[in-house]
Amino acid sequence: MRRQVLLLALAPVLIVSGRIGTWTKQALVILPVLGVLYLDHRYRTGPALGSAGAERRASIERVRVVNLLALGVVTPLLLFHYFRIITRQQASRIEASIRDPLTALFNRRHASECWSKLVSARSSQGLPVSVVLFDLDHFKRINDEWGHDVGDSALRHSAQLVAQEARSSGVVCRWGGEEFLAIQPNTPQAAAAAFAERVREKLATTPLVAGGKELVVTGTFGVACDSTAGSLDALVDRADKLLYEGKRAGRNRVLSERQP
Ligand code: GH3
Ligand code: MG
Ligand code: MG
Repeated sequence: MRRQVLLLALAPVLIVSGRIGTWTKQALVILPVLGVLYLDHRYRTGPALGSAGAERRASIERVRVVNLLALGVVTPLLLFHYFRIITRQQASRIEASIRDPLTALFNRRHASECWSKLVSARSSQGLPVSVVLFDLDHFKRINDEWGHDVGDSALRHSAQLVAQEARSSGVVCRWGGEEFLAIQPNTPQAAAAAFAERVREKLATTPLVAGGKELVVTGTFGVACDSTAGSLDALVDRADKLLYEGKRAGRNRVLSERQP
């Protein structure tokens, strides 16, 4: 073992460098390794060590310690560092794939996935699950009169209010443009209707402040409940029909299915 093996310690540093291209990196790692192998071969087949052998051995020992440090400390530290970066990136990619970018609520796809899990978990127990669907009233008018950016703020504002009001066990998502859906497991219809009423009232009494002025946003709600392992779309359809009945009746209200 001689000084040239120090070149090997460069490998992990080169591999993780962000400035060097992949092919250049491979060449920069492979060439020193080949160089070390070649020099080792020359050393073994070259003339024997002379009287300076003892001092030579001491310097070889120092080189060995440096190499051990490089391999035993630097490499694990780098691996640990890059492992952390990769797991963080993975977590943020997963988070981005299940969230709506504007409101940060869950997106529709994630709500559907949650529903599938919920259905398989409760199908054997026959527990009720309720959905609360609501649509912001005259939202087109808000965009037209206040501008699209204020419209976006109104969506974020509404999302925040419903998320605050939702139970931690439920799933709240942005179902479409200005429509939101709350899935509430183990919740009978009356409790879901009470939740919808709380959100409706909070929305109507908590204006959004935009450009120094107050903008009141209201919503119309439809509530439906299911105790069989039916499909989410079928249940949301039932809530949607009630929601539109509510729109026709004058908006800013909660409509629930008549209970048997
Ligand atoms: P209604 O009370 O009957 O629901 O009337 P509405 O005006 O809310 O309903 P309509 O379907 O006519 O208009 C919905 C508007 O919501 C139109 C669309 O441009 C707006 N919208 C949808 N998504 C977004 C968004 O991400 N940002 C903004 N600013 N507006 C959006
Ligand atoms: Mg609307
Ligand atoms: Mg709508």
